[in-house]
Amino acid sequence: MKNFQKFQILTVALFTAAAGTSHAASKLNIMTTTQDLADLAREVGGDKVNVDSIAMGYQDPHFVEPKPSFILRLQKADLLAVVGLDLEIGWLPPLQTQSRNAKIQKGGNGYLDMSSFCKILEIPTGQVSRAMGDVHPLGNPHYWLNPDNGRRIAQAFANKFSEMDSADKDYFQGRYTDFDKRLTAAEKGWDAKMAPYKGRKVVTYHRSWPNFCDRFGLNVIDYVEPRPGIPPTPSHTLELINNMKQQGVKLILVEPYFDLRTPNSVAAGTGGEVAKLMPSVGGVKEITNYFQLFDYDIDLLVSLFQKVK
Ligand SMILES: [Zn+2]
Repeated sequence: MKNFQKFQILTVALFTAAAGTSHAASKLNIMTTTQDLADLAREVGGDKVNVDSIAMGYQDPHFVEPKPSFILRLQKADLLAVVGLDLEIGWLPPLQTQSRNAKIQKGGNGYLDMSSFCKILEIPTGQVSRAMGDVHPLGNPHYWLNPDNGRRIAQAFANKFSEMDSADKDYFQGRYTDFDKRLTAAEKGWDAKMAPYKGRKVVTYHRSWPNFCDRFGLNVIDYVEPRPGIPPTPSHTLELINNMKQQGVKLILVEPYFDLRTPNSVAAGTGGEVAKLMPSVGGVKEITNYFQLFDYDIDLLVSLFQKVK
């Protein structure tokens, strides 16, 4: 046998041995596109996973700068979990391609699209075209804002982690069961706080909130954006003000990454209030986990409903 061949066989053997032992001993490397998915991954993964995310909770998840520093982290990822429904289409594909990590490409074994496990609203029925600028062509991608979808995401993580690291299956399933229990208890508290405001009408800037509003009984009557992803226009703003006046709507909910000029002028024209509601973990620094996200938004809504009567 030639020396070169010997070397090849030795390298393969060493590599295989290293991969075998390190897999059992080391943690799974999980990348998620958003901080919400990252927190849910930590809930079930505990100290058996390293979790990192790309978009920050205070950024518009439709429009994130694909920084090259993410490529290295994607290279080492065992799993990439995405929100899907084209939420990340403007920034994730080049990062995935450049990572050269076959596992995390769409359809790969380390690619997990959470939208396939969740209840999705606003799925278009007719012909869909992104040419119209609508950033929700496959249904509403802000589905993590219903806690029941958070539960489904956590369960999907538990099942995937169990498949990837079967020795720790009981650990992951146990942590999911505990999360489910704590979430159910928290939902009781959130429901009690929101119960007096069932059926209240609100306006939101972007269509980020149908899942949240559906879950907690709020009625979104209109949007500051004429279509998802399309900036406000003077004619639409005028219609919005008239619509709010006619229906006596006083609350304008705005995601933290939008310009406040149009919402403020709508508030001035209607005697209403602008409120920055947080769509994601990390939207403000006190929201460090999925529970605090709902705590924050529900407390803010309750205080606003009391203010505008
Ligand atoms: Zn959106």
